[in-house]
Amino acid sequence: LKGKPTLPDQCVAGIDIGGTKIALAVADHEGRIIEKTRFPARTGERGPHAIIEEALTEIERMLGQTGARLAAVGVGCGGPLDRKRGLILSPPNLPGWDEFPVVRLVEERLGVPALLDNDANAAALGEHRHGAGAGYRHLVYITISTGIGGGVIVRGKLVHGVYDGAGEVGHMTVLPGGPACGCGGRGCLEALCSGTSIARRARAKMAAGETSSLSSQGADNVTAQAVAEAARAGDAVATEVWDETIEYLAVGVGNLFNILAPEAVVIGGGVSTAGEQLFGPLRERVRARARMLPPEMINILQASLGGDSALHGAVILGQAARERRPAQSS
Ligand SMILES: [Zn+2]
Repeated sequence: LKGKPTLPDQCVAGIDIGGTKIALAVADHEGRIIEKTRFPARTGERGPHAIIEEALTEIERMLGQTGARLAAVGVGCGGPLDRKRGLILSPPNLPGWDEFPVVRLVEERLGVPALLDNDANAAALGEHRHGAGAGYRHLVYITISTGIGGGVIVRGKLVHGVYDGAGEVGHMTVLPGGPACGCGGRGCLEALCSGTSIARRARAKMAAGETSSLSSQGADNVTAQAVAEAARAGDAVATEVWDETIEYLAVGVGNLFNILAPEAVVIGGGVSTAGEQLFGPLRERVRARARMLPPEMINILQASLGGDSALHGAVILGQAARERRPAQSS
């Protein structure tokens, strides 16, 4: 334990629901995480009710250890979801979670208010409050892993837009007529620069007969991380794929700077762990592209909370739920 909360009845909990794992945190009145844990979701074996029940039992266990009383809960989850009604709506990574009333279940079971938002928005909140984006009021967060998500923060607040559709940076077109995207469109940033897409483009080059050190691991096992490593080692195919990735990403990030002029764009997710191999050339190309801002205003940062950005954000959602309306007696 990092220290006992001074206002124990103002504690909040955060739940980050992913396709493979559920992460949980209990935080003090100021949102500092006192204890956190995670467990495998095993979505193939059991439904949402069993998974949420395990999460709530774990939260009660953590609270019991701290002696703290809960005031509210924040929940982050992959979209689509209905934020106002507190429903999770069949996310592709959560089969069987159809119109799942997660907010109502949490509120009824724990007797405190709960608030739901999508995990990319939650991660944006987390990085904005506690991570690489701390101190900035205007921020765009992008997560690049199997897919690409994002969150836009203006004047310190998330922008949700009509139908909560804002911040879907993964689905901006960066190559008209380009590869098919999971959204039904073509040439989206996600269809070119997600980890899945990076690996797919490398496989396509090998299938077309280009020789690469990547083929030694079997074409099916090629990952974005392997492409990054092979590019560092000087492999020509991997270098070409990595270079294209940065070019398309620079188009997308350049558009964001031109439209929103954020103080910073923070990039997280698995692909961002390539570090300067990604960020060095990306900054250079976005600076060359986003001509409406002076180059020194193009501030592109690596996320600093690792896999916990969205969990920190879920805690912040819990704080917002606490402030929005008083907790019922539990
Ligand atoms: Zn798309």
